[in-house]
Amino acid sequence: MESEPKDPREAKKVICELIDDLEEELLHVSHAIHENPELGYEEFQAHEILTSSLISHGLKTEKSAYGIETAFEAKAGSSGPVIAVLCEYDALPEIGHACGHNVIAAAGLGAGLALSQLAESLNGQVRVIGTPAEEGGGGKVRMIRKGAFEGVDAALMIHPAGSEVERITSLAIEQMKISYTGRAAHAAAAPEKGLNALDAAVLGYMNVATLRQHIAPDERIHGIFTDGPVKANIVPQHAGADWYVRSPTRAGLESLKSRVIACLEAGAKAAGCDMEISFSEFPYDDVVDNRALLNAYISNAQEIGRDPRPETETAIVGSTDMGNVSYEVPAIHPMIKIAPEEIAIHTPTFAEYARGPMGDKGVIDGAKALAMTVVDCWTSPTILPEVCEEFEELEGVRARRTNTP
Ligand SMILES: [Zn+2]
Ligand SMILES: [Zn+2]
Repeated sequence: MESEPKDPREAKKVICELIDDLEEELLHVSHAIHENPELGYEEFQAHEILTSSLISHGLKTEKSAYGIETAFEAKAGSSGPVIAVLCEYDALPEIGHACGHNVIAAAGLGAGLALSQLAESLNGQVRVIGTPAEEGGGGKVRMIRKGAFEGVDAALMIHPAGSEVERITSLAIEQMKISYTGRAAHAAAAPEKGLNALDAAVLGYMNVATLRQHIAPDERIHGIFTDGPVKANIVPQHAGADWYVRSPTRAGLESLKSRVIACLEAGAKAAGCDMEISFSEFPYDDVVDNRALLNAYISNAQEIGRDPRPETETAIVGSTDMGNVSYEVPAIHPMIKIAPEEIAIHTPTFAEYARGPMGDKGVIDGAKALAMTVVDCWTSPTILPEVCEEFEELEGVRARRTNTP
């Protein structure tokens, strides 16, 4: 860099100019990822495109980071606060980039490339972290467990949507597989010798049905029977069920989960059967947005003509592994508008917008708003301390899950 701005306002201006200069490359990356949708942990081309770009711009880049083939990490800067900008790039089966992760990837890349130019002069560090398999594969959860967020002061990403919203209304989710074991017997000749595993599953289901009347309106429990019995004249020895439990917070989820388990166990006990639970490997937490960080993002987004609205005006509901990141470090997950209001994510029409002019504008604006917020974290004497203080105050809320490491 010829000029080395020290003043944050000047730095943000330079950052935005750098991103404008990168437009052609960023949109090429966004379109290339969009044209070749890859499922979670199979994002080989996206991984290649993104890491090639980072390397060509001189960032210290590790491919297949943290033992995950399609994860990556790129770094710039040698001292000062460490701020992570996250890229997602997995697609959905059959409907491709209907969640617009190509926009997330290109915006994160753009922010990282521009910031790398100013990191030394502004005394900050940036990490561009490539997190695969957000759509159910828990890429970020695996990366957290491998230490990807150690030493990170804050983590930022944007997600495209049909409206401009401060945050996603997320639900923490736990998935449980239940296996019941009873004892087979002839249903007519010796029913007294049988222990009916299907009864255990059905009684548990009924117990949960009564529980539903006494849970919070924003909590969800849904279950199905799996691997059921095969013949009516045999007392069923095996039965299975899948249950999903959702609650607005991790702590709420823990409490609801134990109530659901009590219902299921009571069913098993009544039928005299054994019951085993296996929990999903990658449960998703709710996103705890850091308000101080979000306020900085909002004012930067407004600078470039965007106006993120409170979620009370437009709610976009979902579960994401960014929630797990937000329990590790201060984090934000604002939604950037790239489609008309009525177009929901996870629809084929949204996929078209993710590749269209509004998606392209989302890439550039997203990169700018993210990068400007990182400049705030680097340079403001108050923002990062406030961010950290707010995060520390959450300690009590950040109850550990009971069944995961
Ligand atoms: Zn999605
Ligand atoms: Zn998504």
